[in-house]
Amino acid sequence: MEPHIPPTCHRCPALAANRSRVVPGYGPAPARVMFVGEAPGYRGADVTGVPFTRDRSGRRLQALLIRLGLSLEADPAVERPRLRGCYLTNLVRCNPPDNRRPTRAEIGACLPYLLAELERVQPRILVPVGLLAAQVLLKHLLGRPAGRMRELHARPIRIEPGTCPGPPEVILPLRHPSRASNEDLETFTSALSALLE
Ligand code: SF4
Repeated sequence: MEPHIPPTCHRCPALAANRSRVVPGYGPAPARVMFVGEAPGYRGADVTGVPFTRDRSGRRLQALLIRLGLSLEADPAVERPRLRGCYLTNLVRCNPPDNRRPTRAEIGACLPYLLAELERVQPRILVPVGLLAAQVLLKHLLGRPAGRMRELHARPIRIEPGTCPGPPEVILPLRHPSRASNEDLETFTSALSALLE
Protein backbone atom coordinates (compact mmCIF):
# COMPACT_ATOMS: atom_id res chain seq x y z
CA MET A 1 0.00 0.00 0.00
CA GLU A 2 1.23 3.45 -0.86
CA PRO A 3 2.16 5.08 2.45
CA HIS A 4 0.06 8.17 1.74
CA ILE A 5 -3.17 6.23 0.95
CA PRO A 6 -4.75 4.83 4.12
CA PRO A 7 -6.48 1.46 3.52
CA THR A 8 -9.32 2.71 5.75
CA CYS A 9 -9.94 5.98 3.89
CA HIS A 10 -13.60 7.01 4.26
CA ARG A 11 -13.64 10.32 2.39
CA CYS A 12 -16.31 8.89 0.03
CA PRO A 13 -18.90 7.13 2.23
CA ALA A 14 -20.68 5.31 -0.63
CA LEU A 15 -17.44 4.00 -2.10
CA ALA A 16 -15.96 3.07 1.27
CA ALA A 17 -19.10 1.04 2.06
CA ASN A 18 -19.04 -0.72 -1.32
CA ARG A 19 -15.37 -1.54 -1.97
CA SER A 20 -13.60 -4.78 -1.15
CA ARG A 21 -10.35 -2.87 -0.79
CA VAL A 22 -8.65 0.45 -1.52
CA VAL A 23 -6.68 0.02 -4.77
CA PRO A 24 -3.62 2.27 -4.91
CA GLY A 25 -1.50 2.76 -8.02
CA TYR A 26 0.72 -0.12 -9.09
CA GLY A 27 4.10 -0.28 -10.77
CA PRO A 28 7.63 1.05 -10.48
CA ALA A 29 8.35 4.67 -9.62
CA PRO A 30 9.67 6.67 -11.31
CA ALA A 31 8.17 5.43 -14.60
CA ARG A 32 8.05 6.82 -18.13
CA VAL A 33 4.35 6.19 -18.66
CA MET A 34 1.40 6.50 -16.28
CA PHE A 35 -2.06 5.17 -17.20
CA VAL A 36 -5.01 6.71 -15.30
CA GLY A 37 -8.37 4.95 -15.48
CA GLU A 38 -11.71 5.80 -13.90
CA ALA A 39 -12.09 3.45 -10.91
CA PRO A 40 -11.27 -0.12 -9.87
CA GLY A 41 -13.67 -2.52 -11.61
CA TYR A 42 -15.79 -4.82 -9.46
CA ARG A 43 -14.70 -7.91 -11.37
CA GLY A 44 -11.13 -6.69 -11.71
CA ALA A 45 -9.04 -4.47 -9.46
CA ASP A 46 -11.57 -4.61 -6.62
CA VAL A 47 -10.75 -8.34 -6.47
CA THR A 48 -7.02 -8.32 -7.25
CA GLY A 49 -5.97 -4.98 -5.73
CA VAL A 50 -4.11 -4.12 -8.96
CA PRO A 51 -5.55 -1.60 -11.47
CA PHE A 52 -6.41 -2.96 -14.93
CA THR A 53 -6.27 -6.66 -14.14
CA ARG A 54 -8.58 -9.69 -14.32
CA ASP A 55 -11.62 -8.27 -16.14
CA ARG A 56 -11.88 -7.95 -19.94
CA SER A 57 -10.77 -4.30 -20.02
CA GLY A 58 -7.82 -5.08 -17.79
CA ARG A 59 -6.68 -8.00 -19.92
CA ARG A 60 -6.93 -5.89 -23.08
CA LEU A 61 -4.82 -3.19 -21.47
CA GLN A 62 -2.28 -5.73 -20.20
CA ALA A 63 -2.01 -7.20 -23.72
CA LEU A 64 -1.26 -3.70 -24.99
CA LEU A 65 1.45 -3.23 -22.34
CA ILE A 66 3.04 -6.54 -23.34
CA ARG A 67 3.14 -5.50 -27.01
CA LEU A 68 4.75 -2.20 -26.04
CA GLY A 69 7.40 -3.85 -23.85
CA LEU A 70 5.96 -2.12 -20.77
CA SER A 71 5.14 -5.48 -19.16
CA LEU A 72 7.56 -8.37 -18.83
CA GLU A 73 4.74 -10.92 -18.81
CA ALA A 74 3.64 -13.04 -21.78
CA ASP A 75 0.12 -13.64 -20.45
CA PRO A 76 -2.27 -10.65 -20.06
CA ALA A 77 -4.17 -12.56 -17.37
CA VAL A 78 -1.31 -12.28 -14.83
CA GLU A 79 -2.78 -10.41 -11.87
CA ARG A 80 0.44 -8.93 -10.44
CA PRO A 81 2.33 -8.20 -13.68
CA ARG A 82 5.98 -7.22 -13.70
CA LEU A 83 5.79 -3.76 -15.26
CA ARG A 84 8.73 -1.92 -16.79
CA GLY A 85 8.68 1.88 -16.93
CA CYS A 86 4.93 1.89 -16.54
CA TYR A 87 2.56 2.73 -13.66
CA LEU A 88 -1.19 2.05 -13.45
CA THR A 89 -3.71 4.00 -11.38
CA ASN A 90 -7.23 5.45 -11.33
CA LEU A 91 -9.05 8.70 -10.65
CA VAL A 92 -10.59 7.08 -7.55
CA ARG A 93 -9.18 4.17 -5.55
CA CYS A 94 -12.42 2.44 -4.53
CA ASN A 95 -15.05 0.60 -6.59
CA PRO A 96 -18.33 2.59 -6.83
CA PRO A 97 -21.68 0.85 -6.13
CA ASP A 98 -23.05 -0.98 -9.20
CA ASN A 99 -19.80 -0.12 -10.98
CA ARG A 100 -21.21 3.37 -11.64
CA ARG A 101 -19.04 6.28 -12.63
CA PRO A 102 -17.46 8.14 -9.72
CA THR A 103 -19.05 11.51 -9.00
CA ARG A 104 -17.23 14.81 -9.29
CA ALA A 105 -17.15 15.00 -5.47
CA GLU A 106 -15.58 11.53 -5.21
CA ILE A 107 -13.01 12.36 -7.89
CA GLY A 108 -12.19 15.58 -6.04
CA ALA A 109 -11.84 13.71 -2.74
CA CYS A 110 -9.36 11.25 -4.25
CA LEU A 111 -7.47 13.81 -6.36
CA PRO A 112 -4.80 14.50 -3.69
CA TYR A 113 -3.85 10.80 -3.80
CA LEU A 114 -3.58 10.90 -7.59
CA LEU A 115 -1.48 14.06 -7.49
CA ALA A 116 0.81 12.45 -4.89
CA GLU A 117 1.29 9.47 -7.21
CA LEU A 118 1.98 11.79 -10.13
CA GLU A 119 4.61 13.57 -8.07
CA ARG A 120 6.25 10.29 -7.05
CA VAL A 121 6.11 8.59 -10.46
CA GLN A 122 7.14 11.66 -12.51
CA PRO A 123 5.87 10.21 -15.82
CA ARG A 124 6.93 11.77 -19.11
CA ILE A 125 3.79 10.43 -20.81
CA LEU A 126 0.38 10.50 -19.14
CA VAL A 127 -2.37 8.28 -20.57
CA PRO A 128 -5.96 9.02 -19.51
CA VAL A 129 -7.96 5.84 -20.11
CA GLY A 130 -11.50 6.75 -21.17
CA LEU A 131 -13.26 10.06 -21.58
CA LEU A 132 -13.87 10.81 -17.89
CA ALA A 133 -10.15 10.45 -17.06
CA ALA A 134 -9.28 12.65 -20.05
CA GLN A 135 -11.79 15.30 -18.95
CA VAL A 136 -10.46 15.39 -15.39
CA LEU A 137 -6.76 15.40 -16.29
CA LEU A 138 -7.02 17.95 -19.11
CA LYS A 139 -9.07 20.26 -16.94
CA HIS A 140 -6.85 19.90 -13.89
CA LEU A 141 -3.46 20.01 -15.62
CA LEU A 142 -4.16 22.28 -18.58
CA GLY A 143 -7.40 24.07 -17.65
CA ARG A 144 -9.05 23.07 -20.92
CA PRO A 145 -12.08 20.98 -21.87
CA ALA A 146 -11.48 17.55 -23.34
CA GLY A 147 -13.95 17.46 -26.22
CA ARG A 148 -14.89 14.09 -27.72
CA MET A 149 -12.94 10.88 -27.46
CA ARG A 150 -12.91 10.42 -31.23
CA GLU A 151 -10.88 13.63 -31.45
CA LEU A 152 -8.65 12.70 -28.51
CA HIS A 153 -7.84 9.01 -28.96
CA ALA A 154 -4.14 8.36 -29.63
CA ARG A 155 -3.45 12.03 -30.45
CA PRO A 156 -0.54 13.40 -28.41
CA ILE A 157 -1.19 16.67 -26.58
CA ARG A 158 2.17 18.31 -25.98
CA ILE A 159 2.56 20.27 -22.76
CA GLU A 160 4.66 23.39 -22.95
CA PRO A 161 7.24 23.55 -20.15
CA GLY A 162 5.87 25.54 -17.22
CA THR A 163 2.22 25.02 -18.25
CA CYS A 164 1.60 22.64 -15.36
CA PRO A 165 3.78 21.70 -12.39
CA GLY A 166 6.50 19.14 -13.27
CA PRO A 167 6.07 16.30 -15.76
CA PRO A 168 4.30 15.05 -17.87
CA GLU A 169 5.48 16.34 -21.23
CA VAL A 170 2.74 14.65 -23.25
CA ILE A 171 -0.83 13.51 -22.64
CA LEU A 172 -1.93 10.66 -24.92
CA PRO A 173 -5.60 9.75 -24.39
CA LEU A 174 -6.76 6.16 -24.91
CA ARG A 175 -10.34 5.13 -25.68
CA HIS A 176 -11.48 2.89 -22.82
CA PRO A 177 -10.51 -0.74 -23.57
CA SER A 178 -14.12 -1.81 -22.92
CA ARG A 179 -15.16 0.25 -25.95
CA ALA A 180 -12.02 0.35 -28.10
CA SER A 181 -11.92 -1.62 -31.35
CA ASN A 182 -8.85 -3.64 -32.27
CA GLU A 183 -8.06 -0.90 -34.78
CA ASP A 184 -8.24 1.73 -31.99
CA LEU A 185 -5.74 -0.29 -29.96
CA GLU A 186 -3.44 -0.62 -32.98
CA THR A 187 -3.52 3.14 -33.53
CA PHE A 188 -2.76 3.79 -29.88
CA THR A 189 0.09 1.25 -29.84
CA SER A 190 1.72 2.99 -32.81
CA ALA A 191 1.33 6.43 -31.24
CA LEU A 192 2.78 5.38 -27.89
CA SER A 193 5.62 3.43 -29.55
CA ALA A 194 6.62 6.57 -31.42
CA LEU A 195 6.67 8.58 -28.19
CA LEU A 196 8.76 5.94 -26.41
CA GLU A 197 11.50 5.90 -29.09
S1 SF4 B 1 -12.11 6.84 -3.58
FE1 SF4 B 1 -10.21 7.73 -2.72
S2 SF4 B 1 -10.89 9.41 -1.37
FE2 SF4 B 1 -12.70 8.11 -1.80
S3 SF4 B 1 -12.78 6.65 -0.05
FE3 SF4 B 1 -11.60 5.67 -1.72
S4 SF4 B 1 -9.40 6.16 -1.30
FE4 SF4 B 1 -10.70 7.56 -0.09
